[in-house]
This record gives sequence, C-alpha cells and structure tokens, in this order.
Amino acid sequence: MPEEIHVGDVIRTKKKHPCGSDQWTVTRNGADIKMKCEGCGRVVMLDRETFLRRRKALLVRGTGDTFPLPPATELSEP
Ligand SMILES: [Zn+2]
Repeated sequence: MPEEIHVGDVIRTKKKHPCGSDQWTVTRNGADIKMKCEGCGRVVMLDRETFLRRRKALLVRGTGDTFPLPPATELSEP
C-alpha cells in the first residue's frame, strides 16, 4: 500500500474503536495526522508512523492535501 495520505481518505483500522466502528476519515495531514471516527465523531491525532501502522485498508481515496515529506537533508537539521 502506498504511504500517501490525503485529507478526505477513509481508512479502516486494525482495531475497532470502542464505539464499534473501524472506519476513520483523515481531517488533517502533516507531520501529525488527525482522523475522525465515523462511528462517534471522536478525533484523534497520530504521528505518521503510528497512522500507517494502524491503517489496514484504504476505503476511499481523499482528494485533499497530500503532505510531501521534506528531503532527508532538511530532516537532519536541528
Ligand atoms: Zn468511535
């Protein structure tokens, strides 16, 4: 699965939320990802790595912003 993330993506997570839903919509894309539970509307923020680890399937491809990672040289600066 590509590691692209778009605002508006609807994804399925490996674990269900306590409300019973396993579907989430990405509402913010950046160094951290915000996603909203489709079942109860709860919003959580995850770092990209955690988000990608929890994402099991992409159900709907969003059309919102992607977040291009800066070149590695920029990442290594203090
Ligand atoms: Zn929920």
